[in-house]
Amino acid sequence: MTTEHSEPQRETVTSICGICPGGCGVNVALVDGKIEKISPIKGHPMGVVCVRGLHAKEIVYSNDRLKSPLRRVGERGEGKFEPISWDEALDLIAEALQKIKQEYGPEAVTAYFGRGSFDPTTMDIFGPRGVYIQGTSGFLFPFGSPNASGVSAVCRVSYGLLAAITTIGADIAITYSDFANTDLVVIWGANPPTDSPPDNIKKILDAKKRGAKVVVIDHMRSDIAKKADQWIGVRPGTDGALALSMMNVIINEQLYDEAFVQDWTVGFEELRQYVKQFPPEAAEEITRVPKETIAELARSIAGAKGASMYMYTGLEYTNSGVQNIRAALCLWAITGNIDVPGGLVFRPRNPVRFNRVNLDPPEGVKPIGADKYPLFCDLLKSAQFMEAPRAILEGDPYPLKGLIVVGSSLLTSLPNPDIWKKCFKKLDFMVTFDRFMTADGMYADIVLPGTTNFENLGYQKYPGGYCQLRQKVIEPVGDTKSGFQFLTALADRLGYGDLFPSTEEELISFVFKDGPVSLEDLKAHPEGVSYDAGQQEYRKYAKGLLRSKGKPGFNTPSGKLELVSSVLEKYGYDGLPVYVEPIEGPLGSPELYKEYPLVLNTGARLQSAFRSQHLNIPGLLKLQPKPQVLINPLDAEARGIANQDKVWVESPRGRVGVWAKVTDDVMTGQVELNAGGGSPIQAEEWREANANIVTDFENRDPISGFPVYKALLCEIKKRD
Ligand code: SF4
Repeated sequence: MTTEHSEPQRETVTSICGICPGGCGVNVALVDGKIEKISPIKGHPMGVVCVRGLHAKEIVYSNDRLKSPLRRVGERGEGKFEPISWDEALDLIAEALQKIKQEYGPEAVTAYFGRGSFDPTTMDIFGPRGVYIQGTSGFLFPFGSPNASGVSAVCRVSYGLLAAITTIGADIAITYSDFANTDLVVIWGANPPTDSPPDNIKKILDAKKRGAKVVVIDHMRSDIAKKADQWIGVRPGTDGALALSMMNVIINEQLYDEAFVQDWTVGFEELRQYVKQFPPEAAEEITRVPKETIAELARSIAGAKGASMYMYTGLEYTNSGVQNIRAALCLWAITGNIDVPGGLVFRPRNPVRFNRVNLDPPEGVKPIGADKYPLFCDLLKSAQFMEAPRAILEGDPYPLKGLIVVGSSLLTSLPNPDIWKKCFKKLDFMVTFDRFMTADGMYADIVLPGTTNFENLGYQKYPGGYCQLRQKVIEPVGDTKSGFQFLTALADRLGYGDLFPSTEEELISFVFKDGPVSLEDLKAHPEGVSYDAGQQEYRKYAKGLLRSKGKPGFNTPSGKLELVSSVLEKYGYDGLPVYVEPIEGPLGSPELYKEYPLVLNTGARLQSAFRSQHLNIPGLLKLQPKPQVLINPLDAEARGIANQDKVWVESPRGRVGVWAKVTDDVMTGQVELNAGGGSPIQAEEWREANANIVTDFENRDPISGFPVYKALLCEIKKRD
């Protein structure tokens, strides 16, 4: 008997990693037409591959992938489904949504878009006019409903949009930290190695090599803090007080940039008066940062030739997120670190316009949440989903009856899974779209299977003048479709498909038509193409480069950087970056603190997971097989807890079972609980560990309406 051994067919396709929307430029090695490995494209603006990208093969070909549309045949939550065709599924969805529209009005249909299975391509097509980053919330506008969420709904909005727009007059996405020219890097409440993509880490370490000092402010000694020159531990939720205290030092010692403050800001006198309440001695009591450290860092920021700042969720996941971030931005402003070499710099105004579909909200009906969070809803042209349960369960201010969840899971990402389960049971109709079965999918009437972005054609536009075609690398696994294909097919059945390109090829031709880069260029250069996105200049505010018609200043109502925000005042909020003590905490709720004497923090990203995704992938699970709560050795010892003991994390809302990681990487009195658990396909240990059982649905930032994932209270106890 002879056996024939044919050589495996090998080829490489240049494309973009298809696992998350990070947009890393990669070469994909294929063996016999299947993904084997991805590696970064040298010289690409996002030429990195994270640990999830390294496990792309396992993710794409996982047996857990949804491979066909499913129709529920059991009770909601029971997880009993039967496969159906896409045509059947889309017909059923369209029929159900039209029925809801007829009975309750179009606004009774809502959609929640996350980043999970999201193709960034769709932002040009389903985004509301004038709001770019928040992506797809315009999809339901032509249907007549203003009720869709934006994208990446649990991060970035407080920081990137609300705080930045009300202070510097721009989405933070059009700024960057000028690490290449800085002599002081301040990483505040962020951990760049777990970013998607993790492209800043190299820039930060290069700056350090060049001699820049790297300081990390965080309640945890994070990955980046371990590589930094200095880690400053701060009590979560008190970052605003820390920034205000540094401004107190800077103003008292006359270290601020007088000319910039005088010419380009409004509200300095009010700010000067307000920060008097925060001398370093008082701030030490609030923040736990030693007064000497506060003063020393303040002087370093004021004295730096250019201080760059990189912030994220550490500040925004608190009940004063927007104002904490505003305080930090005001600190950067009065020290003259805005739009100067090495500072927080505006990107050049991009002269290039790509085509996009511009969708406007329907008139006469406000989105859900607009009564409580009007600034959020106005700026994002989006519903604030934390108010959806009020509408679903109580019909207030009007009922929500139909829900589409795309690339996300409300049950694992927002507080109080029980309230969301109740909502899902009360809805008339629910559909989910994802690559894997999600916690929400278990309650859906129809579950739709999504592609990874290796399986569909698309494109990516990068800041700084670079774009790339996302070549389709493999055929879709099973009967899966991309988010774009699903939404355009649904729009067709709902009667407004003509608003959108109908194929991915048409979409790309539409976006790049008349642009600086032709489709032919993109095809000829699969590694991507640069184009002129404007000359970089500093101090653009002085040169009329930030506002329309060449007017000098910032793009705010006053034309100045607003230390006191006129927009916030107009909406009835405090215009100053006021500090508010965490509602739940040793100072905010001393009685509760006696029963729950540890400060609970959650929401820090893991390298191996993308929120609740990938905690079923064996190669990634090896990196962290079980959910953990990080606890300081002193706090662990006081409770008789040893490393890797099974423990309960208990809060006034409930308890969740995890494993203790005893480490002095977390401050005493604080714990950090891994988020992401609670999905039905995850490894058992994770499946049972939804951190949002112990977070608080009612505790939110009053401006953004975002839930508080940090600065809550808990107790840790051993379990059997
Ligand atoms: S950050 Fe996202 S796009 Fe980049 S390699 Fe990782 S998974 Fe892929």
